[in-house]
Amino acid sequence: MQYYSTRGYKMKINAAEAIIRGLAPDSGLFVPSESDLSLNIEKMPAHDYPELAFKIFKPFLSGFRDIEIKNALQKAYSSGNFDHKLVTPLQKLSENLFILELWHGPTSAFKDIALQVLPHLLKTALDNTGYKDELVILTATSGDTGKSALEGFRDIPGIKIVVFYPDNGVSEIQKLQMVTQEGSNVSVTAVTGNFDDTQRGVKEIFSNSKLASHLASHGFQLTSANSINWGRLLPQLVYYFQAYLSLVDNKQIRAGEAVNYVVPTGNFGNILAGYYARRLGLPVNKLICASNQNNILSDFINTGIYDSNRRLSLTLSPSMDILISSNLERLLFELNSHDPEKISFWMNQLREKGSYRVDQQTHEKLGQLFYAGFAGDKKTLSTIKSVYRDYKYLVDTHTAVGKAVLDSYIADTADNRPSIILSTASPFKFAGSVMKALKGPDAVKQKSELTILDELVKLTGIDAPENLSKLGKKEIKFKQVITRKALEDHLLSILEID
Ligand SMILES: *Cc1c(COP(=O)(O)O)cnc(C)c1O
Repeated sequence: MQYYSTRGYKMKINAAEAIIRGLAPDSGLFVPSESDLSLNIEKMPAHDYPELAFKIFKPFLSGFRDIEIKNALQKAYSSGNFDHKLVTPLQKLSENLFILELWHGPTSAFKDIALQVLPHLLKTALDNTGYKDELVILTATSGDTGKSALEGFRDIPGIKIVVFYPDNGVSEIQKLQMVTQEGSNVSVTAVTGNFDDTQRGVKEIFSNSKLASHLASHGFQLTSANSINWGRLLPQLVYYFQAYLSLVDNKQIRAGEAVNYVVPTGNFGNILAGYYARRLGLPVNKLICASNQNNILSDFINTGIYDSNRRLSLTLSPSMDILISSNLERLLFELNSHDPEKISFWMNQLREKGSYRVDQQTHEKLGQLFYAGFAGDKKTLSTIKSVYRDYKYLVDTHTAVGKAVLDSYIADTADNRPSIILSTASPFKFAGSVMKALKGPDAVKQKSELTILDELVKLTGIDAPENLSKLGKKEIKFKQVITRKALEDHLLSILEID
C-alpha cells in the first residue's frame, strides 16, 4: 500500500513515512492508494480488539513488520490502559438504539483510541528509518487532544511531548488532567488568553525556520500530533467493525444487514474513519454527521457549500467547536477519483475567500453517504435529560448532540433500522454540563467541577472513571503561566538549550 498527497505532490511513500511526515510537502493530506479491500468481515474476531485491529491495520501499514504492528497493538490495548476488556464496549439502549463507548481510555475521551497506539507506530517507524534526532511533539490544545497526547507519548524513548493550553479556555477537569500529568518526557504550560492566542503562538513556532534549524543543530525536530496524521485515522476504523461484529454476535442483526452510525463531528476524523470502514466492506447505511451550533459541516453536506465566513461559537461540546474540518479534504479526494487538481482548487478557494462550492456530482454523493444535522446547547441539555429519563443512561454533551441529530434523522426518514451512536467522551468528563442538564443551573452554581462530579455519582449511582474521580488527589506538577510572546523562549528552556 502506498500513500500520496491529496494535492498532487508527485511522490508515493509507504505508511511508515506517511506517519513520520504527518502532512505532505504541498500541504495536502496523505491517503492510501487503495481502499476497496473487501475484508472478510465474517471471519473477524469480535471479542479480541488487538487481533481485530491487526486484521484492519495489516493491509495499510506498509513498512511495518507483522510483529511490530502486533507489539504496538498489545501495548496500546492489552496492557490495562483501557478500563474495559473489550476496549470499546457497545451498550444497548433499546431494540434499535446502541451506544458505542469510545471513552474507556486513560483520559476518558475517544482520542485515546488513536493516541494510545500512534506513538508506538511512530517510534517503530523512526527506529526503522535510522532516525537520530529527538522528536518534539508540540501541541496547542483546547482540551481533549493535549491530555490524550500526553498520555500516549509519556515515557516513549526518543520523543518529548510539549503541550500548551489556554489559561482561559479549558474546563477545570481538563486543566487538572493536564497539570497533574506524569511522565519523564512531558511538559505542560498555560498561556494567557484564549485558545486562539495559544494556537497562534504554537503556529508561529512551527513557521519559524530559524528556530527549526537552531533546534536541529541541537538534535531536536518539531512535529505535531494533530488529527490529520494517517496514523491517527487508521486506529479509528477498528471500532466501527467491532460494534458491527458485536451486533451480529448478539443476534441483533443478520450478517450483511446495514446499520447507521451517528458521529458527533468536529475535525471530521472520526466520521471519515467510518467512511473508510464502509469502503472496506462494512455494511453501513448512513453515516450521520452531527454538529453543534458550529454547523458548518451539516450546512456543507446539505448545500454543497463550505463557508467558514462565520463566527465560532463556544458551546457545551467544546471538542466540536471548529470551523475548518481538515479531514474533509480526504473525503473530497476519495469522492473525486483521487483528482488532486479539483482538491487543490477548492482548498485554495477556502484559503483565499474562506469558502468553496463543490460540483453537483460531489454534492449528490455526499447526500447518498451522509445525513447531516446539528443541535444547539439547549437541545444538547434537554437530550442529556431525556436520555437519562428514558434509559437511565448518562451521555456527555458531545454524545448528546449525536442523539439529538439521530432523533431528527428518524423524524425525517422514518428509518427504523439499528443505529449506533459513537459516544466520544465520558459524561463525567463534562460533569458540570451534565449535572446542569439533569438538575438545572442552581445545582452547579458556585461549585467546583470535582464536587459536581462526586454529586453526579451519588445522584445517578453510576461510577465515574478512576482517572477522573481521583483527580483531586493527584499532585499538581505544572503551574507555570506564560504569555504568547514568551512561547519560544519557554520551549528552548524546556529543551535546555539557549
Ligand atoms: C475530538 C472530539 C470530537 C470530534 O472528533 P473529530 O474526529 O474531530 O470529528 C468529538 N467529541 C469529543 C469528546 C472529542 O474529543
